[in-house]
Amino acid sequence: MLLLIPGPVTTRPEVKAAMCYDLAPWDRDFASITVDVLERLRDLAGGRPDQHVTLAIGGSGHFIIEAAIRTFVPEGGKLLVPVTGQYGERMMRLAREAGRVVLSLPVGETERVAPEAVAAALAADRSIGHVGLVYSETGTGIVHDVEAIGAVARAAGRRVILDAVSAFGAMPLDLVAQPEIDAALFTANKCLEGMPGLAMAVARIDRLRACEGNAQSWSLDLADMWHNGQVNGCGYARFTPPAQVISALRAALGLYDAEGGRQARLARYQANMRTLRDGIRALGLHPCVPDAIQGPIVFNVLAPHDPRWDLHHFVEALKRRGFLISNFYNTRLPSFRVGCIGAVTPDDMRRAVAAMAEALDEMHIRTRETV
Ligand SMILES: *Cc1c(COP(=O)(O)O)cnc(C)c1O
Repeated sequence: MLLLIPGPVTTRPEVKAAMCYDLAPWDRDFASITVDVLERLRDLAGGRPDQHVTLAIGGSGHFIIEAAIRTFVPEGGKLLVPVTGQYGERMMRLAREAGRVVLSLPVGETERVAPEAVAAALAADRSIGHVGLVYSETGTGIVHDVEAIGAVARAAGRRVILDAVSAFGAMPLDLVAQPEIDAALFTANKCLEGMPGLAMAVARIDRLRACEGNAQSWSLDLADMWHNGQVNGCGYARFTPPAQVISALRAALGLYDAEGGRQARLARYQANMRTLRDGIRALGLHPCVPDAIQGPIVFNVLAPHDPRWDLHHFVEALKRRGFLISNFYNTRLPSFRVGCIGAVTPDDMRRAVAAMAEALDEMHIRTRETV
């Protein structure tokens, strides 16, 4: 079965094999593996050893996003969140439940965040300390302009928390060039093609120092994690880490380098997305998002306008043919979502499109017009 979902993704056999050992997380050998992984990820984020550190917690992406909000936005502090889609909304909820004040900035479902709109919102309200931005909005598939939004925040003297969960490893990131970013957040199981269970932040050391005591949580305090690393060594976690997932991530990073690094990975994902897009157009279906802003990570297809359309039937029919896609709607209009990331190639995408044609036939859907 190939997972064509935006995480967890299909992984290579070497990544799975790296997990089948008993590992002692506080053993010195394991600590050096952890340090190696964390340092490589800091470099991948364009971070510098004297300015940035990678912090990892066991858990899913939401855990590290909440940890970053709690750590960098003080209690009662205000966060401006462009509502890019489901993940923008999720960031707002995490912030609200943590007692932070959220101001939302509406964004059209088929639009990128406009830097001018962010600038205007920041100018209108001096009490906004942070912008919370989703790099690749996994709900819509649109990739937002981190450089441009970051530049606006920088010019206005505000900070940025970047949800790069579905972008990291494929989309460019240069944290030294963007000092307004307190932390870039990501997990092992998306574009890095590792396993789920490990969430990470590449964060600014000066900001961690300045934000001690903000978090109102021990387990989700990035400043405390950093402090612990200073005292005990940064390969030693405070609580039991998912050691097998870290080991798998190291194997995944080896494969990442062997593939040719970030640019090669991005090129493969772009080729996957284009193959899928050409294929669904040939079936008479239409993408949700205009080509000019369609990102390479996830692809939403408008559902055929046919009374026989049923997402669950379609998903099950594809599953019987070896492909798993998302089984819930992510957009306002009915659609189906396909992930273009993971250890999959354009050939896999061609086979997936053939399976989609068969699934539609099985459902007797012949009119491929969309709503
Ligand atoms: C996957 C994802 C997350 C985290 O989701 P989890 O299920 O908590 O791992 C956060 N933001 C974006 C943009 C994502 O794609």
